[in-house]
Amino acid sequence: MTTKRDDFDVAVVGASIAGCATAIGFARAGLRVALIERRPDPAAYKTLCSHFIQSSAVPAIERLGLLGDIEAAGAVRPPVEMSTPWGWIRARYGPDAAPLALSIRRQVLDPLLRRVASDSPGVEPMLGRTAVGLLPGARGVEVEDRRRARRQVSARLVVAADGRSSPVAALAGVDKRETPIGRIAYFAYYRGVPGGDRARFWLGDPEIGYVLPTDGGLSALAVMATKDHLPRFKADLESAFGEYLAALPEAPVAANAERVTPFYGFVDRTCVARAPAARGIALVGDAALASDPLWGIGCGWAFQSAEWLVQSTAASLAAGADPRGALARYARRHRRALRGHERLNVGYTSGRRFNPVERLMFSAAARDQGMADHVEAFASRRIPVRRFLGPGALARAAAVNVRHAYGSATSTRSSAFRGSTP
Ligand SMILES: Cc1cc2nc3c(=O)[nH]c(=O)nc-3n(C[C@H](O)[C@H](O)[C@H](O)COP(=O)(O)OP(=O)(O)OC[C@H]3O[C@@H](n4cnc5c(N)ncnc54)[C@H](O)[C@@H]3O)c2cc1C
Repeated sequence: MTTKRDDFDVAVVGASIAGCATAIGFARAGLRVALIERRPDPAAYKTLCSHFIQSSAVPAIERLGLLGDIEAAGAVRPPVEMSTPWGWIRARYGPDAAPLALSIRRQVLDPLLRRVASDSPGVEPMLGRTAVGLLPGARGVEVEDRRRARRQVSARLVVAADGRSSPVAALAGVDKRETPIGRIAYFAYYRGVPGGDRARFWLGDPEIGYVLPTDGGLSALAVMATKDHLPRFKADLESAFGEYLAALPEAPVAANAERVTPFYGFVDRTCVARAPAARGIALVGDAALASDPLWGIGCGWAFQSAEWLVQSTAASLAAGADPRGALARYARRHRRALRGHERLNVGYTSGRRFNPVERLMFSAAARDQGMADHVEAFASRRIPVRRFLGPGALARAAAVNVRHAYGSATSTRSSAFRGSTP
């Protein structure tokens, strides 16, 4: 009996974070990968994105063998501080405490990932080619080049790594859930921002601002204002942006800082979620779940979902088996890790105020070191929501707040940060 050999084991559509990480992972497992990207320039990068990669994703990046290259390219590893209406939340970082996040601009990260993926034995990069059709049974994709010439790329597994709008998911008929974001967002990069050694998030209930240091001595300043601010931002973006940040408690003083990029942002956007595996295809990164930018989680989840997919399916593909059972395993793993986070994100991006549980946890974290460490583990997505809101954590938060209400709370803040408020 002869077996028809497919051109590729895997066709990955999209050569951004999720697609490159997927291609590198499958290639290291000995599989043949077509990496299809509509943008022809190997140095292309996503402009509507900041650069903060949560610490939950760093082990996956390290296992891909990319951490050294990313650090050598100038990435910084800042501790995170969160301002709340009850004070600052400052977790402990270090070998026996929380791991650090990773910050590197997309204009540095994306070309680096594309180079490593393209150089990986087993990967055939197809830049400047757009996936325009799905072959019958999802056994590959039809791609079109810049001159509109078409070619069929057959593969045993098609992976949609093509971002939140995912044309491949649409071609396959995979449904999506969309929820409007009730905020507007703007950010720009600056040089000379004070306190640039720390990443700072203002969770102001409801006002939100960020300072995110990164490579090249730059920091992104960002705001996510509720929609009632829109007329002011439309009338004079630069002034409204500066005034919004200045009104945050202990705000970053950007007066002497130099803005080195245009403002990027949006006024109307949705969170998008799809099944991580459906109709015979796999979805990774934003194609499966896009709920940024409020928390800065999508880049990390792009790396992590790529790893979960490779771990769940590579052995079946290498053995020549039908990958559908393995795809179901991937989908379960994705849902177990991210569904709870998705629900909380979507709720909060609506622009609503903190709910009673968020108030309980964040107020306790501003008053108690153990709770600060716990909230950091949640915010960096290193623990699932069921652990963040476990009975022990809720009881501790309640006890901290009762002690505080009776004036007997003792400050247990890390001495490492004492006196270093912005
Ligand atoms: C304002 C803003 C700020 C953000 N800041 C952060 C942050 O600080 N930290 C963080 O973790 N996340 C952040 N995010 C989220 C982050 O940008 C995404 O989660 C991340 O880019 C997802 O990566 P991806 O590889 O899944 O998709 P994308 O980066 O969107 O890449 C999709 C790729 O697919 C290609 N493609 C699309 N269709 C086709 C086709 N038909 N054929 C071939 N190729 C195709 C595209 O050209 C693109 O290269 C932010 C988002 C926004 C909007």
